[in-house]
Amino acid sequence: MAEILKGKPIADGISEQIQQRLAELQTKGVQRVSIAAVQVGEDPATEVYVRNQKKQAEKHGIDHQHHHLPPETTQEQLIAFIGKLNTDPSVTGIILQTPLPKHLNTWAAQCSIAFRKDIEGVHPENLGLLVYNRERLAPCTALAAVRMIQSIGVNTVGAETVIVGRSAIVGKPAALLLLERKLSATVTVCHTGTSKAGKLAEHVGRADILIAAMGSPQAVKGEWIKRGAVVIDVGVNQVGDQMVGDVEFEPAAERAAVITPVPGGVGTVTTRLLLYNAVEAAAWQREN
Ligand code: NDP
Repeated sequence: MAEILKGKPIADGISEQIQQRLAELQTKGVQRVSIAAVQVGEDPATEVYVRNQKKQAEKHGIDHQHHHLPPETTQEQLIAFIGKLNTDPSVTGIILQTPLPKHLNTWAAQCSIAFRKDIEGVHPENLGLLVYNRERLAPCTALAAVRMIQSIGVNTVGAETVIVGRSAIVGKPAALLLLERKLSATVTVCHTGTSKAGKLAEHVGRADILIAAMGSPQAVKGEWIKRGAVVIDVGVNQVGDQMVGDVEFEPAAERAAVITPVPGGVGTVTTRLLLYNAVEAAAWQREN
């Protein structure tokens, strides 16, 4: 039976790092780290998420403002609003809550965020820095998956690592982080094309380390998992009144050495890394 790798102890370690970095920054004259969360329109899930974000930020001594714009906000108005946050020295981190209403272009809005304030790591500048092994603000979920792998001290060098999912915020940046020289994993990235070709089970079955980031409830079958594998389940899927991951938990836990639970796994680390990024962003702005 696998060891269950919970997010909380790792998140608590990140909280300590946040406190240390904040203290360091204060000695360098940074008095305030502050997050501006921008929400457009109504979305109950976003509201819960932002409320939790605020609670966590304030617990860590980080200011948090929630800017709630009306659903009819135009692209120009949204970009102008972000532009004001970009130049406001009292704001050191910006989060654009998604999904945006359908009439808005998420990509253009994300690109309009000053990249040194992009604490979600979604701006092309920050993703580009990952390609060059010059990570500054990496996407929090990808970073969380990698931090969880690192937390167990597993040797990643040359390890067969399979990522299912190729999104710009999880799958691809996780692949780039694992390819960095210090981790040097051998990375395979799977997607729906892999499934269509009937090859997903085969790839998953080779994985010493598996990251499932598909958004497809329990699509990775327990029987596919290699015995002794490390399984990081990023998926968050509501099925009835239950939240489940992308991996069939019980049968996978029978075969894996380590597995993350859903909820209480990657998500817990992700939200803490958002605060970590907020502190790193303030430090980066101080350098420039
Ligand atoms: P996306 O929908 O953007 O990407 C999903 C990826 O999975 C795509 O690349 C897609 O392939 C691939 N995929 C989906 N179904 C299959 C399948 N049957 N076989 C193979 N590949 C498949 O999702 P995100 O990357 O944004 O999120 C992934 C999951 O992680 C979601 O459940 C999301 O809720 C969760 N999440 C969790 C967070 C956390 O903090 N724990 C934070 C962010 C996300 P293709 O490209 O071919 O379509």
